[in-house]
Amino acid sequence: MRKLLDERMLEPGAVVLLGIPLDENASFLRGSALAPGRVREALLCGSSNLCTEGGLDLSQEPRWYDGGDLAFSSSEGAFQEIEAAVARLLDRGAKVLALGGDHSVALPILRAYAARYRPLQILQLDAHPDLYDAFAGKRFSHACPFARLLEEHPQVRLVQVGIRTMNPHQRTQADRFGVEVHEMWDGDPLAQLKLEGPWYLSLDLDVLDPSCAPGVSHPEPGGFTTREVLRLIQTLPGPVIGADLVELNPLRDPQGLTACVAAKLVKEMVARMLESPRDRGGRGGGGCPSECA
Ligand code: MN
Ligand code: MN
Repeated sequence: MRKLLDERMLEPGAVVLLGIPLDENASFLRGSALAPGRVREALLCGSSNLCTEGGLDLSQEPRWYDGGDLAFSSSEGAFQEIEAAVARLLDRGAKVLALGGDHSVALPILRAYAARYRPLQILQLDAHPDLYDAFAGKRFSHACPFARLLEEHPQVRLVQVGIRTMNPHQRTQADRFGVEVHEMWDGDPLAQLKLEGPWYLSLDLDVLDPSCAPGVSHPEPGGFTTREVLRLIQTLPGPVIGADLVELNPLRDPQGLTACVAAKLVKEMVARMLESPRDRGGRGGGGCPSECA
C-alpha cells in the first residue's frame, strides 16, 4: 500500500483507502472516528501478512494506495468535503474503499458514486436497515443515510443483507423506496438473491455476530460469522466498484479483535476491487456463485 502523495499518480482502476474519521452522527456512542488508524495498524501488523485467501500478495501489489484520513475544517462542512474528496478520486478513474467513521459517511460517498455510476447498485451488509426518516430528531444520523440517498436518487438499487432489527417504520420506508431487504433469518443470501454486479459494497461491521466483531457501537446478536462475510465478499458477482467499511468502534475493542477482522475484510475487498472481469475464471468461478455452487 503506497502513500498517495499526488492524485495524478493514480492509474485507472487503482484502489484508494480513504479514512473518514467522523462519528458525530452516531446516535449512541462515539468512537468510530478512531477506526481508520486502527484498521491500518491491523493491516500492517506483524501478526498476519498481506496475502488474500485467493493468493494475491497485496504487499507486492502497486495498484492500491493509502489516501490518508480526511481532515475536516468544520463539522457542518464534513459531508461536502467527503463528497468532494471521493468525487476527485473517481474522476481520476480510481475506486474508493472508505474507512469510517459511523455509517452516516456513506451518504456523501454515495452521492459522489450516484452522480457517476448509473445505474448504481449497493449491497449493504448491516444488522440495521438505516432507513429512518429521522432518528432522535436528526435526519443525517447514522440511522438515516439510505433514506436520504434514495430520496435524492430513487433509481439506485439497494439490497440489504444481514438485517435483524427491522421495525414497522423502517419496513414502511423500505417499501416506499423499493429496498430489497434480506433479513438474517431468511437463510443464505448468495443462494437466494439474484446478485448481478457491478456493486458498491457498504459494510457495517455490526452485520457480523458480536462474538466475531464485538467492537462496534450497536452489537446485535444473531449475525454472520467472519467466514460467512468473507464468503460473501469473495463470491459476490463482480465487479466491485467501491466500498466502505464503517462502525468499528475501537473504544469497544480492547483486544483489537474487531480491527483485526476489519483488516482481513479490507484485504479481501481490495482484491475484489482490483479484479478485472477476466480474473473470475478459476476458483470462485465465473463471477456467478449461484451457478457454481
Ligand atoms: Mn449501518
Ligand atoms: Mn448497523
